[in-house]
Amino acid sequence: MAFLAACSSSGEGTPPVVSDEVQIQTQTLDQGNVGFTYFQEVTAAGATGAYSWWVSTSGDDLPAGISLTGNGELTGTPTEAAARTVVIVVQDANSTLDLRSFRIETRDVELTASAQGAVIPGASVSFTASGGSAGYTFTLTANQSGGTIDNTGSYTAGGQNGIDVVRAMDGDGFFDEQAVTVGQDPFAGFQPIWGSSDVWWVSWDVVYHPAPTFGTDFDEVLAFLGLRGSASTGLGTDAEQLARFLVIRRTLGHLSTYYGNGMDGNPLAGGLSLSLVGPSGTTEGTTPPVAGSQGAAPFRFSTICVRHGSSSGILGTAYVDFSNNSVEHNCGTSGDSTLGVFANQLAPLYRSVFRNTLENDPVVNSDEDGLRRLLFGNPPADSRETELFELADGFGRVLAAVLAHEIGHSLGLNHSDPSGGNWDIMNAGLTIGQNIQYTFNATHLAELQTSLPGPNR
Ligand SMILES: [Zn+2]
Repeated sequence: MAFLAACSSSGEGTPPVVSDEVQIQTQTLDQGNVGFTYFQEVTAAGATGAYSWWVSTSGDDLPAGISLTGNGELTGTPTEAAARTVVIVVQDANSTLDLRSFRIETRDVELTASAQGAVIPGASVSFTASGGSAGYTFTLTANQSGGTIDNTGSYTAGGQNGIDVVRAMDGDGFFDEQAVTVGQDPFAGFQPIWGSSDVWWVSWDVVYHPAPTFGTDFDEVLAFLGLRGSASTGLGTDAEQLARFLVIRRTLGHLSTYYGNGMDGNPLAGGLSLSLVGPSGTTEGTTPPVAGSQGAAPFRFSTICVRHGSSSGILGTAYVDFSNNSVEHNCGTSGDSTLGVFANQLAPLYRSVFRNTLENDPVVNSDEDGLRRLLFGNPPADSRETELFELADGFGRVLAAVLAHEIGHSLGLNHSDPSGGNWDIMNAGLTIGQNIQYTFNATHLAELQTSLPGPNR
């Protein structure tokens, strides 16, 4: 007697019995995390022909955001925290069925950072987690900067530029992640090049207003433009400090380009021997040594002040200190009261030409992330950021031209004669323009080429 194989159709006797029935093999479903891709294939065996799959209405629905495809794939991105018991059904071509009930849970663990957007190398950010069970652990699932994080969520960016990803996992394995972009200090290129260049320190912290409302004249300008709240005091909010840094960054950047060097402050081939120093309070921005321009080389530097102006409409005044070895401006000399750039006269002029909604809707805390992104050189992401950037950049561009004009005088340049174009920095009637490509004319560039670096540099 011959035994027939189940699948054989040859031979004689009774037809083979199809003893194989479809059976779900998967025993458990993975847990899901709100906001993160979910994927699990549910498998079955013993079927004849193609399977089809569905979720039975006899059980719960899948957590929102997850769906079951007809070929047994659970896919999607959970949008809710949920704990469900779902009944999954499979059917094969012979209409045999199997079903199994599964527990599936999603949680919305929320990772919160003390700082958003990009941070500079070495910066500290503290992370906290919520929404899950107790006992969070913090790890870096990507670590391009060489950063560290401890189990309290205290993160320190490493020394390299890159993206780190922080993960907080609760006691049951549910997690959230957040990326941290570690970028270079936006003022990294603004460093004094002692000995071979004229080092210029722009003082942003001068108080010369006869009846000051703000801690510095420059802060008054920022409030006037809407880059600071009109009632803000002291250093201001984080967002206001970022706005201040953004204006300084754009101003120093444009100023650097007027001398043929980089927007990032770094010297370029063919650029003039003049270096600028970033503002205090940043990693790279350190006030030059106290001895200043009156000290022995190599610690000589020049200062130009950004301060409140007169009501005469004069934007700036420059003096050369002939009694002090012809050093250039120095806010620290006894002639302080007559030195510097009258930025406050510039602000009303600028605002009258380029009105913006920030006048009535000044920088607030919710601008912080955008300002941080802009400070690190990212393009504006929305209309608000565009407005912030255009104001900071446009005003910075004109302020830089005024600074360059006054520095030019202190280096011996006269006004352009005949009067140059509106782009000509030494034009006596310097034009206020949001997008003017200011530059020294060829004659002045040649003079600067021979006069820089200045005396005893
Ligand atoms: Zn002038």
